[in-house]
Amino acid sequence: MFCLNLNNFPGGTQGMQCPSCQHTDSRVLESRSADIGRSVRRRRECLNCDFRFTTYERVETVPITVVKRNGNREAFNRSKLLHGLLRACEKTGLEPSRLETVVDELELELQGRSGREVASREIGELALQQLAGMSDVAYIRFASVYRQFQSVADFVATLDGLSQHPRSKSLAAVL
Ligand SMILES: [Zn+2]
Repeated sequence: MFCLNLNNFPGGTQGMQCPSCQHTDSRVLESRSADIGRSVRRRRECLNCDFRFTTYERVETVPITVVKRNGNREAFNRSKLLHGLLRACEKTGLEPSRLETVVDELELELQGRSGREVASREIGELALQQLAGMSDVAYIRFASVYRQFQSVADFVATLDGLSQHPRSKSLAAVL
């Protein structure tokens, strides 16, 4: 990961160390974009002593290129993805801030890779994987809206690539 824990002691090499007991395993309670997506603020809870602390993990941003279905390339646009998610998740009760978290996590994942090119369909898959744990309704709606996107705006790709995703098999019947 290209993350820097700004709470860390200078020169420390541990990742997300508990400020109370120095344990290095914690669980994330909440993620929030900060600094216009260039860093992620996380509330964490130490798995050893339950101490709660906040980290600001800075993303080392390198431009990500999205390869669209038609072969065209364009810069990854987080607001475009967020807009698509918001549209798909209207009236599902999902808080917009949670969708921002989806985009944050997705961008972090892309930034953590060695390659800087990603297929648009893969972005769609990653977004669906995140939604899967949040709301079945949102998941299904995103999947269906996202098909329209594909034919209308050629934005994100098909569900084909989701075949390895266990959930998609049952969804295929629904859709
Ligand atoms: Zn601790």
